Amino acid sequence: MSFVITTPLYYVNDKPHLGSIYTTLICDTIARYKRLLGEEVIFITGVDEHGLKIQRKAKEKGILPQDHCDKISQIFLNNWKNWDITYDKFIRTSSTEHKMIVGEFYERVKNSDDIYMGVQKGWYCVGCEEFKENPENSSTLKCPIHQKNLEWKNEENLFFRLSKYQSEIEKIIDNPSFIEPKERRNEIINFVSKGLKDFSISRTNVSWGIAVPDIENHTFYVWFDALLGYVSANNIGNVDQSLESSIIAGWPANIHLIGKDILRFHSVYWPAMLLSAGMKVPKKVFGHGFLTREGQKMGKSLGNVLDPELLLSKYGKDPVRWFLIKDISLGSDGDFQNKRFVDIINNDLANTIGNLLNRTSSMSRKWFQNRVPNNENISRDDTLSSLSRITVDNYINNFNSYKIDLAATDVLNFAINTNLYLNDKQPWKLIKDEKNIPLVKEIIYNVLESTRIIGLLLLPIIPELSANIDEQLGSIYKKDILWKKQLKWGTLNHDSPLPQPIPIINKLDYE
Ligand SMILES: [Zn+2]
Repeated sequence: MSFVITTPLYYVNDKPHLGSIYTTLICDTIARYKRLLGEEVIFITGVDEHGLKIQRKAKEKGILPQDHCDKISQIFLNNWKNWDITYDKFIRTSSTEHKMIVGEFYERVKNSDDIYMGVQKGWYCVGCEEFKENPENSSTLKCPIHQKNLEWKNEENLFFRLSKYQSEIEKIIDNPSFIEPKERRNEIINFVSKGLKDFSISRTNVSWGIAVPDIENHTFYVWFDALLGYVSANNIGNVDQSLESSIIAGWPANIHLIGKDILRFHSVYWPAMLLSAGMKVPKKVFGHGFLTREGQKMGKSLGNVLDPELLLSKYGKDPVRWFLIKDISLGSDGDFQNKRFVDIINNDLANTIGNLLNRTSSMSRKWFQNRVPNNENISRDDTLSSLSRITVDNYINNFNSYKIDLAATDVLNFAINTNLYLNDKQPWKLIKDEKNIPLVKEIIYNVLESTRIIGLLLLPIIPELSANIDEQLGSIYKKDILWKKQLKWGTLNHDSPLPQPIPIINKLDYE
């Protein structure tokens, strides 16, 4: 069985914003980690291209919706290339393979007697593509998220019998590992306990959508269409283009990693749709938090949107990855502060990890003929080796439970403690007396071996910096040997050559 992880399918109303980059980087990190463990991974991402919002956006620009989607989805692809995202499948919902799956899925749901024609009346936010309940209770008829006027709709729509799945959905969300984090799970439990209402799955007067096969002028509601991208993605490159073959190729997903705003669609509507079609539900839906900037919500109208492309060109991939992964607890909201960002990169990566390697390698080269010292046949000081074992165990446990910020912190703490060890042992003083040479060899070996393990643990999190560390240790990481095996203490060869030290990362300047 493959490990299947998905980002949301991003809406193509605009190029990717920092939030989409954040979700995708997290998924990329988890996918890289699972691959290092030797698991088969299917990492799915893509774009959600249909709906009224896109139709209007294209009209505004005076171009065809398809041309608009082609353009924006290409921008997404370029972004994922620039950020070195290791996705396996990129699905577009305007593609033929996707449309076919939606049609087949609809037939299954219809055969379960879960579709009927009804009248949908209510206030609708085009931005959310969602009806808003009880907006008359609020002071204005505006979407609280988009701050845009809601539109009154009164039309015949096809409905999906969500209410039929009340008890089954209750059972699914009762499993504490299905929705994470806990607080979000409670919100959903609360929502479901009020009683599930059927929801409309077709629209009239939205031409930019997948046509409902048996009903004229109806296109599928964008969510009924887009969620299926997680399934149709598995058909990319398949000879047999059927729903059954896409299920065999990679369903159910192990985890949908999404923003908290779309949790309800993924943890309630989507499982019910899947049950209706006789399919398995995903194993986990993880709703991460939102990002603010300098304590403020980001928005176009506020003029404070942080452009991820600018971040990338200014700082590079790894600093942004490290900050977003280590500084934000996955599931909580996060704040991007420029000063804090620069401080963290300089402290964690340049000083704590970079300098540790740089100065130890310099000492080793100077005292031991440009090589790792030969520390065989010397009594063991197990301070760092036992710390390394504990770090690896904690890191694996944290990664396996998606606490990737804690996994990153485990690595950093190991580096901090290795620095303390080095400062405490002071080999630069010991070396002055020849009888201390065996002891100095041991200290230097221990520190270099720690930096090797630190580098390996950073591989899924900040791959470039990890590769730089490996290079500084003489390019000893072996891709064809299981990563976990190489995390074993003592793998660094005695007497192996060390290259001329260069900083693994440059310090960042404040603006
Ligand atoms: Zn809205």
